[in-house]
Amino acid sequence: MVDKATFPRDKICGDALSGKALEVFKKLDASIIDELVKNSTAIDSWGVTFVAPNGEPLRIPFSKNKSALKNAPGFIMKRIDFDDFLFEKAKQNPLISIHENTELRSFIRTQNGIDARDKNDNVFSSKLFIAADGAHSAFAKQIAMLKTEPEHNCFGLRAYYKNVQNLDAEGFIELHFIHKALPGYFWIFPLPNGEANVGIGIRADKLNSKNINLKKLFFEIIESEPQIKERFANAELQDNVKLYGLPLGSKKRKLSGDNYMLCGDAAMLIDPFTGEGIGNALLSGMYAAQQAEICIQQNNFSSTILTDYDKQVYQRLWKELQLSYSMQRLINFPLLFNFVVKKANRNEALREAIMSMFEDIDLRSKLKDPKFYFKILFSPK
Ligand SMILES: Cc1cc2nc3c(=O)[nH]c(=O)nc-3n(C[C@H](O)[C@H](O)[C@H](O)COP(=O)(O)OP(=O)(O)OC[C@H]3O[C@@H](n4cnc5c(N)ncnc54)[C@H](O)[C@@H]3O)c2cc1C
Repeated sequence: MVDKATFPRDKICGDALSGKALEVFKKLDASIIDELVKNSTAIDSWGVTFVAPNGEPLRIPFSKNKSALKNAPGFIMKRIDFDDFLFEKAKQNPLISIHENTELRSFIRTQNGIDARDKNDNVFSSKLFIAADGAHSAFAKQIAMLKTEPEHNCFGLRAYYKNVQNLDAEGFIELHFIHKALPGYFWIFPLPNGEANVGIGIRADKLNSKNINLKKLFFEIIESEPQIKERFANAELQDNVKLYGLPLGSKKRKLSGDNYMLCGDAAMLIDPFTGEGIGNALLSGMYAAQQAEICIQQNNFSSTILTDYDKQVYQRLWKELQLSYSMQRLINFPLLFNFVVKKANRNEALREAIMSMFEDIDLRSKLKDPKFYFKILFSPK
């Protein structure tokens, strides 16, 4: 395992971990979840509040039956803590040799695989590279030849605050769909000790075409947006605001080739609606490990066998990514958003239907069906 950073290290992120991340931990080692529950740097998250462009909030729990659950369906934990927590687990494994503070800069193909060089000209040779070097992946550019496309890429800005008022007592994450940030959103995610992760994300092509300065827009929202500004009256910024890319999974890419697989952000797998990428990164890592085992058993590291990895990843994620892409386009219609939120706040059945959509992908697909909106238009309340 080679990483350019030395852990613990920060990663610019919203810090929210969804059920999909927990799904991977359940398969890997369920005790990881027990440790997260007890970890004082993590807080439980039981749902999400969507705030429509007209300011009306809609609280949707992640699960219909909270009391039946052993632990919360989601967590929020600063990445400096979460990534180190996972990294420590890798360090404890005697089969893994770890090289921190080692940035791999160039990659060349050899007869047996791929050679990577760090800044001191140390060479790391492998028959099978699992490239998980993030949104600005050097490997994805040099070997997989993936390009960043503004319409499938987002920029996100993150800030840590203390003393933001009225943070949700049940750790609900808040997504505010503010007019001037559409089709992106402004978020407030509660953290332990009265802190909050606050940020904003917008698609790169929209930032360019509307000539938006993300940092300026972020502070404008905090200082002048009704419902937001009162909550930040006594808030203190803890650190500099920081910006990073989010490669969206709204387009299928080739995730493997001779002697390599791409994982997580290097594979561009971020949910195009929610901006969630940790769960998909973990899931792709799990599939890559399973595929690597098969390759080693068969001593075959060719692209022909490695395409099975692409199939696994997209079989699990493509439907969901496509749906989220449709949702991303729907939020270009703020009146529709206002209308659904208003109806759902008055109609329990509709609220329950939206809640079920978090657990059931087929139900979620109703959101892109015009009949769904037609039905709620004529619903009783
Ligand atoms: C502002 C923002 C908010 C977000 N909010 C959320 C959220 O709330 N929830 C969520 O699920 N997702 C969120 N995401 C997405 C999430 O952060 C990513 O999808 C996730 O971190 C991907 O994990 P990864 O392991 O693929 O990449 P990373 O977490 O970026 O890890 C890449 C690793 O590779 C190392 N590395 C990079 N280049 C090299 C190199 N050349 N040589 C050696 N090592 C290298 C880095 O040091 C790093 O440790 C957000 C992203 C942004 C930018």
